[in-house]
Amino acid sequence: MRLWIKDPIALLATGGARGLIVEGGRIVELVGSGGPASPCDQVFEASRHVVLPGLINTHHHFYQTLTRAHPAAINKKLFDWLKALYPVWTRHLNRDCFRLGVRLALTELLMSGCTTASDHHFLFPPGMEDAVDIEDEERAALGMRMTLTRGTINLRAADGTIFYENMIQDDDTILADCERILDRFHDPAEGSYRQVALAPCALFLVTKPIMVATARLAAKHNCKLHTHLGETLDEDDFCRAHYGCRPLEYLEEVEWLTERTWVAHGIHFNDAEVARLGQHRVGICHCPTSNMVLASGQCRTRELEAAGAVVGLGVDGSASNDNSNLMESVRHAMLLGRLRYGADGVTHLDALRWATEGSARCLGRSDIGAIVAGKQADLAFYTLDELRFSGAGDPIAALVLCGAYRADRVLIGGNWRVVDGVPVGVDLQRLRHEHGEAARRFLEAV
Ligand SMILES: [Zn+2]
Repeated sequence: MRLWIKDPIALLATGGARGLIVEGGRIVELVGSGGPASPCDQVFEASRHVVLPGLINTHHHFYQTLTRAHPAAINKKLFDWLKALYPVWTRHLNRDCFRLGVRLALTELLMSGCTTASDHHFLFPPGMEDAVDIEDEERAALGMRMTLTRGTINLRAADGTIFYENMIQDDDTILADCERILDRFHDPAEGSYRQVALAPCALFLVTKPIMVATARLAAKHNCKLHTHLGETLDEDDFCRAHYGCRPLEYLEEVEWLTERTWVAHGIHFNDAEVARLGQHRVGICHCPTSNMVLASGQCRTRELEAAGAVVGLGVDGSASNDNSNLMESVRHAMLLGRLRYGADGVTHLDALRWATEGSARCLGRSDIGAIVAGKQADLAFYTLDELRFSGAGDPIAALVLCGAYRADRVLIGGNWRVVDGVPVGVDLQRLRHEHGEAARRFLEAV
């Protein structure tokens, strides 16, 4: 079936003056002014829409939708924020509320125009050993693509560092479950809907042996590696005190300085470290909203890209954002970038490129992230009908500058997953009610 996405207001692509053709789940043709090369079976009139490649989110913690704007954690920097929230999370998280947290985060992402998600999940308390399996079920129900990112916490610290017994797993359990998840879910094929990445939580929450073992397991299965790195200066202090080096030196020591790796945040790198990251083509997931909320600092996006590193975009967890709207993070990436680099230093096109092509590269995917013939037909459609867009000139700039936050339609692999602003098959009112009820218990802990 050949579907013509006909005559959009604008298309973020080179060419395609009259839209594009989708066939077999892929983009097969950008339509020039002369019309399609051959007849089409269906036409979607896109004359109300600005069309972008589906956005790709490269860092999140879905379960944190259950603790947004939590009274114990607001107005704190990262380590204090973590110390306030870990007791709440570890005391109350169970598989039922976790499932609702995942469903809500994925739905929010999808409604903002995200077609490929990832979730850095690292809490596996008793009864939730199959948390990644639950995530895959929820992903499949929405028809989204996802990198299932299996987190790890195994460090028992004696010095007051954050840890709670039921969030720690032993090394054998961790590595066996990583193998299980890789065997069950990792599909590296073109057009894949689910891939797996291995993701120790942060260098202050895992041991050196598990970092090394994880890197070797990822190499064996040819999957990606992910962790938090360079988010705060407190992490530098921890690393110096415990390992006698800076975080990037530690990363190299544990065999992670490779293009297989993408890290979340990547803020506090010096010039030599930026060069090292570029030399090894490491991916950096920039999380501008979370960085502003926790006052963590500003990612050196332009220097990292100039050095050869890959910059993608993420919303980060919903307790430090506190939403899952990737279009909003595009706007924040542009605005925050301008504070560092000036008015022409980060354009709306730079921020959109990070959320699409850059994020795809972070996840190790060449089949998504751009509107090009041969790529997967993952597209986000926005209208300019709201008051906030009235008077806008450049339609693509308008999405970022005027603050688009909700896609009118979303296509994933050639299938409509959002129609008229509503995710297909989702009862939004019911989801809001059930999730809100489940989240109530997390407040009772205060
Ligand atoms: Zn995070």
